Amino acid sequence: MPTRTIIEPFRIHSVEPLRMTTEAERRDALAAAGYNLFALRAEDVLIDLLTDSGTGAMSSEQWAGIQRGDEAYAGSPSWFRFEAAVKELFPFPHVIPTHQGRAAEKILMAAIGGPGKGVPNNTHFDTTRANVEAVGAEAVDLVIPEGLDPALEHPFKGNMDLARLEALLRERAQDVPAVFMTITNNSGGGQPVALENLRGVRALCDRYRVPLMLDACRFAENAWFIRERESGHGERDVADIVRDIAALADGMTMSAKKDGLANIGGWLAVRDDELAARCRNLLILTEGFPTYGGLAGRDLDAIAQGLKEVVEHDYLRYRVRSTWYLGEGLHRAGVPVMRPVGGHAVYLDARRLLPHVPPLEYPGQALAVALYEAGGIRSCEIGTVMFGRHPDGSETPAALDLVRLAIPRRTYTQSHVDYVIEVCDEVAERAGGLRGYRITQEPPALRHFTARFEPLAS
Ligand SMILES: *Cc1c(COP(=O)(O)O)cnc(C)c1O
Repeated sequence: MPTRTIIEPFRIHSVEPLRMTTEAERRDALAAAGYNLFALRAEDVLIDLLTDSGTGAMSSEQWAGIQRGDEAYAGSPSWFRFEAAVKELFPFPHVIPTHQGRAAEKILMAAIGGPGKGVPNNTHFDTTRANVEAVGAEAVDLVIPEGLDPALEHPFKGNMDLARLEALLRERAQDVPAVFMTITNNSGGGQPVALENLRGVRALCDRYRVPLMLDACRFAENAWFIRERESGHGERDVADIVRDIAALADGMTMSAKKDGLANIGGWLAVRDDELAARCRNLLILTEGFPTYGGLAGRDLDAIAQGLKEVVEHDYLRYRVRSTWYLGEGLHRAGVPVMRPVGGHAVYLDARRLLPHVPPLEYPGQALAVALYEAGGIRSCEIGTVMFGRHPDGSETPAALDLVRLAIPRRTYTQSHVDYVIEVCDEVAERAGGLRGYRITQEPPALRHFTARFEPLAS
């Protein structure tokens, strides 16, 4: 019998108590944190939707893997289990473990980037952009125009704009060390990329003789969306779709804190022998020997098991459906959210909800602070606080002022999510009374992590 309710495909074996706080306590915590949610103590947060990175719950088999972990410096059995699990989905000849995704990015960019180079991507994630720019190259975002309109419905808003990619390659392919595809497109709202679009990118990469790399952090969620939305894939095994994606690429960077279902880890994989040798030399400088990267053997085992679980259909059906459930609940309550709902997060459109707060008074920050004060929910401003300050010191509104509710994997239940919907709805109803903020203190770069704020008088 097909049921309407998609249940969590697990039961709970070990519980972490949540600490209840009062609104008065949360008001004090906010003031002490300078109204920056990154500065809160996690214990003072009831539902933590700051990120989906590394915050998921591991399975009993993953914890068993932690026990099985072998800490040999070189050639540990944990390494061989990790390598086999990666190659089962991504059969690249060279797999290089790293402590996180950004370490893989840094090594790859040090090997292939440099001044005068340009790296196209559907949309660079912030660490990817920072690593491209750190070696003097230019990061170019070429997502389809539909991907930039928060209210527009489109099944694959993460797709690359093939015409703009071709124009760039025609003009300067010799300066392009690789084309990147981020699946799903995190900075664009967790929106998927179609297999058809990846094939189009591959064809352009072949024509202009440029390698194609995947930023594959949410590969399983992306493959699930292909199965659900792209014609001809509805009956397929997600693992086969993942292998189709891998077959189109020359390599990948990965954060195992996302679709590795682990709390830490990542890897770099490539086909090219000579590039792999250069990357391994760089790896040894900062991460460690090539059979452990920056990881303990036990972490390698947790990831190896996570990669088996993340492509299970029951898991992915629940994962995508539970994110959708939050987005749909908010949409139905009249709270403006980015459409369609992506795989790992729901984005509230703060600029639309708080039209009386101008972007330079940070409507996203005002909304994120209000959600914490009202219900102990920690979210993340993705807007003018994060992107408004420029290296020359000027400040302009970001393209959008969003608040991201990121969903940790297998961590919260439906009643937690119902509570989140209720709090968001209550805050949205009195959004007209929320005030903006001003920044009292900020660092020269990446200010969202450490800035301090002050509420503006009404
Ligand atoms: C998280 C993430 C990264 C970086 O990975 P870390 O493990 O946080 O260093 C890179 N790209 C995308 C799309 C991500 O979501």
